[in-house]
Amino acid sequence: MIDVHCHLNSKDFDKDLKEVVGRAKDIIIIDAGTDYESNVKSLEISRNFKNVYSCLGMEPCLKDFERINELIFNNKQNIVGIGEVGLDYKICKEREDEDFRRFIRLANKFNIPIVVHSRWAVKPVLNVLEEEEAKKVILHAFSGNIKEGLRAVENNWFISIPTSIKWAEQKQEIAKAIPIKNLLTETDSPVMWEGRNEPKNVEFVVKKIAEIKDLSVEKADKIITSNGKKVFRIG
Ligand SMILES: [Zn+2]
Repeated sequence: MIDVHCHLNSKDFDKDLKEVVGRAKDIIIIDAGTDYESNVKSLEISRNFKNVYSCLGMEPCLKDFERINELIFNNKQNIVGIGEVGLDYKICKEREDEDFRRFIRLANKFNIPIVVHSRWAVKPVLNVLEEEEAKKVILHAFSGNIKEGLRAVENNWFISIPTSIKWAEQKQEIAKAIPIKNLLTETDSPVMWEGRNEPKNVEFVVKKIAEIKDLSVEKADKIITSNGKKVFRIG
């Protein structure tokens, strides 16, 4: 199984990170940074656990592009993608997308995926990604409608389904409408669960997708894990 988006670098895991990763030792885990400090921590975690890989990013609205850009350049060999980055119209007053565009260009240049946050901003995110001709894209915790989801499919991008599929009808509908070749799974740990989330719970997402797609859990897992390994180029 694969958890393509979580934050093991969160202070919520400071006390028992080893146990948390231990419970998910057969799961490929992609950890994502959101600011300079969490990026540095993410790199360290990926060095310490062989099933954990790192993406470096900058949460929407943060103004720290230069430092994070430099960190990405210096760690090209140590990361599997750029993220999370994107737009968030809930928290940003000014709707500025220049940094997001710069991260897309960087991901295209390195030929690595970009893991995208798009809360309250699905349409503008899709517009920017298309304008910048983004190649490898993972729309994390996608909150768009089916039409917007299919627009991502036309571009050969991925939609990542989070653990909130347990209660969110929109996530169930997206999982149903989007072909499995374009689906990935995530926990967004420590959030999106009742209580603290952790990568092991990605099992729940895979089982739910298998049920929705009327596939065996093994078959659904095989396809989704192979989608993730291919896009992140993990052995
Ligand atoms: Zn996240």
